Amino acid sequence: MGGVRVRVPAKVNLQLSVGAARPDGFHDLANVFLAVGLYDEVTVTPADELRITCEGPDTDQVPLNHTNLAARAALALAERYGREPAVHIHIAKDIPVAGGMAGGSADGAAALLACNTLWNAGASRVELLGLCAELGSDVPFSLVGGAALGTGRGERLTALEIGGTFHWVLATAVRGLSTPAVFREFDRLTAGRDIPEPVVSRTLLDALAKADPDALAAAVSNDLQPAALSLFPELAHTLEAGRAAGALTALISGSGPTAAFLTRDLKGALTVAEALRASKTCRTVRTTTAPAPGAQAMA
Ligand code: ATP
Repeated sequence: MGGVRVRVPAKVNLQLSVGAARPDGFHDLANVFLAVGLYDEVTVTPADELRITCEGPDTDQVPLNHTNLAARAALALAERYGREPAVHIHIAKDIPVAGGMAGGSADGAAALLACNTLWNAGASRVELLGLCAELGSDVPFSLVGGAALGTGRGERLTALEIGGTFHWVLATAVRGLSTPAVFREFDRLTAGRDIPEPVVSRTLLDALAKADPDALAAAVSNDLQPAALSLFPELAHTLEAGRAAGALTALISGSGPTAAFLTRDLKGALTVAEALRASKTCRTVRTTTAPAPGAQAMA
């Protein structure tokens, strides 16, 4: 019997507003996700037992045991539908690991969709989204793609209107940043301060709907950026190199350390990419467009 292959995009955060730590340690967020054209491919085939393999440049950092989010997704679906989680999950990884681009979450959403198809389990879209939310705050968005506002821990999603294509340059860093460590640094840097309720920016939503890159560039924000820069100060050089080359805006994606640069068009993106490569302030540089579709089965 053949396998099921699912392609799933990375994300950048256009707005990441972080509220005060809640009693459970999580933070309420206003999180505007945008799926970008950088993908992992997850293939699930029947096997004697659950097994994970991975190919790609960051493979050595990907856990090949049951802590992998793709394995956890298969186990969660199998338990819900009374199946044996007997599958080989192969991840062809192009999304940087620990890059603030939700690579692990993407693989979780992709594995869930692939297993649902392979097993004919019949989970509805709503059930799949519920399982995604149990796996992690960023997982539901990987299933949905496009652009969406996440509230709560970021997992309650509202789809957003997006009027056209945006051009991005993504610069990955020489090392990763741990999301929990960045939130701890946020808590340390903001200790004793009054932190307002996170609220989505209307200006940002309008810019997205109108596909206006200049207006979008003026409206993006990331409350985790100071914490990411505090833990990884060299990232400031990457951001500066992209700005100097004409990027409309330069920001850290999510908890970092990937730096994202918005440009007006493809020509601008190629100029920024070339300058970033020449700056030697980052590991890899990619140009891409957004929005990208969410996880989908490939022929
Ligand atoms: P986010 O943007 O959602 O905060 P991230 O993109 O910064 O996440 P991930 O690439 O998801 O980070 O990896 C974070 C950690 O999760 C890794 O260091 C790794 O130990 C673990 N992990 C579990 N499953 C996976 C997976 N399928 N791919 C990559 N990392 C995984």
